[in-house]
Amino acid sequence: MATDLQIAARRIVSLNPATGEVLREIDCAGEVEVRTAVQRVRAAQPAWAELGLRRRIEVLRKFQTGLYARKSEIAAVITREAGKPVAEALVTEVLVVLDAARFLIDNAWSLLRDEPVPHANIVTKLKTGWLVREPHGVIGIISPWNYPFSIPSTETLAALVAGNAVVLKPSELTPIVALELASLLHDAGVPDDVFQVVVGEGPAGAALLSSPIDKLVFTGSVTTGKRIAAAAAERLLPVVLELGGKDPMLVLDDADIDVASSAAVWGAFVNAGQACLSVERCYVHHSLYEAFANACAEKTKQLRVGDGMDAHTDVGPMIRERQVRIVESHVEEAKQRGARVLAGGMRLPQLGPNYYAPTVLGDVTQEMRIMREETFGPVLPIMACAGDKDAVRMANDSEFGLAASVWTRDAKRGERLARRIHAGTVMVNDVISCFGISEAPHGGVKASGVGRTHGRFGLDEMVRVKYLDMDRLPGMKKVWWHGYGESFQRQMEGFLDMQFGQGLGSRLRGALRAAGVVRRKRL
Ligand code: NAD
Repeated sequence: MATDLQIAARRIVSLNPATGEVLREIDCAGEVEVRTAVQRVRAAQPAWAELGLRRRIEVLRKFQTGLYARKSEIAAVITREAGKPVAEALVTEVLVVLDAARFLIDNAWSLLRDEPVPHANIVTKLKTGWLVREPHGVIGIISPWNYPFSIPSTETLAALVAGNAVVLKPSELTPIVALELASLLHDAGVPDDVFQVVVGEGPAGAALLSSPIDKLVFTGSVTTGKRIAAAAAERLLPVVLELGGKDPMLVLDDADIDVASSAAVWGAFVNAGQACLSVERCYVHHSLYEAFANACAEKTKQLRVGDGMDAHTDVGPMIRERQVRIVESHVEEAKQRGARVLAGGMRLPQLGPNYYAPTVLGDVTQEMRIMREETFGPVLPIMACAGDKDAVRMANDSEFGLAASVWTRDAKRGERLARRIHAGTVMVNDVISCFGISEAPHGGVKASGVGRTHGRFGLDEMVRVKYLDMDRLPGMKKVWWHGYGESFQRQMEGFLDMQFGQGLGSRLRGALRAAGVVRRKRL
């Protein structure tokens, strides 16, 4: 019996959240397997780096072609394991990855090639300097279940094109999607030993963190992120932390109610509200509040909830019942403190244990958990605010700072407010789609994380910048080397006057004094 239990504990059971069906059982990697995977990719990485950027870009092109050919199949795999409607899997996962590949194919060459560093200082003019972008070596990636394909794929593609090898520890809830990513990469020509997946729960992630990797890119909750940051600090391991959010939506008094309410409903309920960039708080100018809240409630009631495999489904199940419990507890607390349920507000047991009705709450207050903690479920809490200043104050009154949106017909006003909101991204008149803009950096401030993925800044995270300096006069000693004395000191003062003095006279005098430098005998 004990043996059975041990074996059971070493297997991950992947479930379909819509039906509870067992999709596959997969062996769970222990510490030894994780370390072995890291050793394997470490051994293979130098050859991958030496292959050169152009050849790695070619591999990305093959990956893109292979993914495009299998787009519908991959979308269905995502839906079966993560629950979201197939249309969402196509748009928010497959399309995002195809376009991330496109971005890297088009831009990796110019973003990663050596870059000259011109010197303005006269003392260093005889040197040539340039930046060399080197891969870190082995990048560990730990990813969540909510975007099981787009998150690890975009990070992996950037890491690989920069010449790194990767060990991915996907969420224990969505290992099949990660294994599909591995098959796409390997089919495209990424050697087996350059990209490895280790399937397991938290301990497998902890094992990856403690193994000899060179950088970790983590996406997940603030709680786990803090643990990771503490462990990484012990060994000064560089990390990128993409953590939770409580994104506010600010609806100003000149907003288009119909458009903004549709955005709020989509932004709150896409992926059943299980998106780091979900609209989790909505602040609406009091003059629009009633009309806006009613429009949101009406549109929410029309959403079709069900199995994501049904093409007519708008909102699928949540990933697991324990996630439903968190949503339920936030909604119950809000109700007890005076919030009004305008739509939904209950489980949907007739559909299955993981379903919660898309819910709109009115009359919420800033103190409620639903406005302070990440709910990560299908709830749209709406609150009236007095004006722009009030809306910005409430938006910034949060431990999180991932993204935000401002809704207005006045672009200047939108931009003004956007600049005052503390977040990694602020969108004016749109929500969430920033994640799909391959050129845009993704990441947060405050508890929402450290570092960036996607775009130029995401690629920068995958390399170490080395400054390479070449002196063009190898036969000449430098004037600033040993052999100091009073006259040298005066000459140096003269040099500073010449370079930074304010008046022409002081600069000329400085030049004359500095001229003595060259006559000094250096050791
Ligand atoms: P989680 O923190 O529970 O798990 C994330 C990953 O970390 C999983 O692979 C898990 O197995 C692993 N893990 C757990 N404990 C670990 C440990 N001690 N050491 C190493 N690894 C460990 O998060 P989740 O529930 O999978 O994902 C949801 C969270 O992710 C939400 O908070 C959401 O906002 C956040 N998220 C953020 C972004 C972003 O880009 N900022 C994107 C998606 C999700």
